[in-house]
Amino acid sequence: MSVVSSRRRALGWVSAGAVGVLAAGTFAVSPAAAEPATPAAPSSGSLSGRTVFLDPGHQGSAAGHSLTKQVSDGRGGTKDCQTSGATAVTGKKEHTINWDVAQLVKAGLEAEGAKVVLSRQDDTGWGGCVDERAEAANQSKADVAVSLHADSTSGGADQSKSGFHMIVPTLPVPDATVTSVQAGKGRAASEAMRDSFKRAGFKPANYAGVKDGIQQRPDIAAVNLTRVPAVFVEMGNLSNPTEAKELSSAKGSAAYALAVTNGVKSYLSTAPAPAPAPLAPGEVTPDADTGTDGEIEDLAALAAVGPLIEQLAGAKSLDEATTLLLAQGSDVSAQVLKAMLAIVYAVFGGKLPV
Ligand SMILES: [Zn+2]
Repeated sequence: MSVVSSRRRALGWVSAGAVGVLAAGTFAVSPAAAEPATPAAPSSGSLSGRTVFLDPGHQGSAAGHSLTKQVSDGRGGTKDCQTSGATAVTGKKEHTINWDVAQLVKAGLEAEGAKVVLSRQDDTGWGGCVDERAEAANQSKADVAVSLHADSTSGGADQSKSGFHMIVPTLPVPDATVTSVQAGKGRAASEAMRDSFKRAGFKPANYAGVKDGIQQRPDIAAVNLTRVPAVFVEMGNLSNPTEAKELSSAKGSAAYALAVTNGVKSYLSTAPAPAPAPLAPGEVTPDADTGTDGEIEDLAALAAVGPLIEQLAGAKSLDEATTLLLAQGSDVSAQVLKAMLAIVYAVFGGKLPV
């Protein structure tokens, strides 16, 4: 579609959709409810037909479940069902940081036409043991499963250790399918994510034996038990004050979310897609936008997103926030606009400014 029509559709989406999402005060509004009757069609090169399993690490509450219940570790042994996760030196909990980024990634991927399956449905209750989340990823038959985490290296501030890393499993594991998938597509997806983080300006971790953003470990059951390509992301170190501040802010969450979204897009652009429907005689193949094109578009749009989030945070009313969104609409893609609406939710913490 042309740039002009794309922008018109984007503006229409915001004017009809922003109010619905904002007024509802919750992000859990179904696309059907939030969007107008004729939402923008997925652009060429979109993720239509692809499924992504997103696992925001940990959970809001054990809700009566035992974190120390022993479950399969994927290596013939057992390990604890779950952990409660880290706490940033800013005070923000890792489970909430993971949740916020996951919501933005979900919005971005869905805007590109992907089906997104979440491991947990909220940030207040229980989200399942590690083996149950791996099984949910398997059942989803996703093209890729992404677990989002943030690391911690100290009970207090730790300036010396910083950076992101992707955890890949020590192979083989007893399950031959897991070994095969994670040695091939899982490794490729993890490296695509690593490359996306680097392109976004994030630095690979300088600790824990991480080599160029990749760390190999035997004990991550979420990966050892997953039969679809798995990416386990440690976005940064919550003990590092700079990274903790970044990961605790809406603006930082958006930057990390764009890196994750682009990592998924980059990997899926190289992974076999579902077979397209055969063309009718005389039908022309649609222009194939490469994943890289879309990525550049998204990264360029990030320059518009950062200042906007700061403006939205200072908005005194729903009208003012909506006006800000509409004013930005002419300069950014529909995909980024949709992500902005999720960011608005994060900025306002689910409550409208009054
Ligand atoms: Zn974690």
